Amino acid sequence: MSAIVSVDNLVKQFGNFTAVDGLSFTVNEGDVYGFLGQNGAGKSTTIRMMLTLIKPTAGSIKIFGKEILHHRSDILRQTGAMIERPDLYKYLSAYNNLSIFAKMSGIKVSKKLLMDQLEMVGLQEAADKKAGVFSQGMKQRLGIAVALVHNPKLIILDEPTNGLDPQGIADMRNLILRLSNEMGKTVIISSHLLSEVEQIANRMIIIDRGKKIVEGSVEELLDPEHTVVDIDTTNNEATQQLLASSKWNDYLQAEKPLQLMMNKTQVPALINDLVAGNVQLLSVKASHSLENYFLSLTTRHEHVEAFAN
Ligand code: ADP
Ligand code: MG
Repeated sequence: MSAIVSVDNLVKQFGNFTAVDGLSFTVNEGDVYGFLGQNGAGKSTTIRMMLTLIKPTAGSIKIFGKEILHHRSDILRQTGAMIERPDLYKYLSAYNNLSIFAKMSGIKVSKKLLMDQLEMVGLQEAADKKAGVFSQGMKQRLGIAVALVHNPKLIILDEPTNGLDPQGIADMRNLILRLSNEMGKTVIISSHLLSEVEQIANRMIIIDRGKKIVEGSVEELLDPEHTVVDIDTTNNEATQQLLASSKWNDYLQAEKPLQLMMNKTQVPALINDLVAGNVQLLSVKASHSLENYFLSLTTRHEHVEAFAN
């Protein structure tokens, strides 16, 4: 397993604001690597540095084992990217958009190859339609075709599902899986939604305020051992006492009175015990600790913004 991207102690300051703060991570060949963080966490800034669109304040980025600032064109030739909303020529057809981007990247491509690319992203029927009339999902998929036109090994997609409807999100998910499974590409996909990334990534990083929170395999990060169970009843105080004097005491979370952490397989037994103890349940919600944690980050920021406004 070789590292395709190695980011080491990356820092980006805008004035005296630190958007990326000592970030290190590794993307291995063949990964679908989820780059997660809420809005403003520093995802796009990191991606812009990886594409040499902006310069790091400090730290290093190696892609294909080479320092990007010294091997810029070499690396960009093997890298395809779609950052936020793709730049397309709205008065040109999908086919002509793709053809222009191919020419700009200096490669000779046949009509067949361009049509194959459009088919790959599900736009073969729309090849002659103007990009300006496309739905958001079609624009994003054309953006991906553009990113793929020079057959790169590494594909970086910055929030490719932003602004898409559920069908568009599902199509995008399938496309990314095809890029990885059928074409052997290494894919980095950024998102502010854990639920979206956990379905397609094999590894992921979560960043907050430019810093790494966790990085690891999705399997390990979403281990069912760490299921958080939130309970609400008609008498929470009595329920807590009941739990505290039972075998469930070991699973109670100190900071929240009616929250337990356990293996997901234990949840039905907990519910049985509550019912047997005559607890009047209003709700039981089992979720993964990472999901809870990620939600708490989002909630915290909403508070900050509420104050700022
Ligand atoms: P994300 O993509 O995770 O939503 P960004 O990387 O776009 O986050 O932004 C991270 C932080 O850096 C945000 O607070 C944003 O306002 C700030 N930022 C991004 N670009 C600039 C810039 N050119 N000048 C000043 N601040 C910036
Ligand atoms: Mg962004």
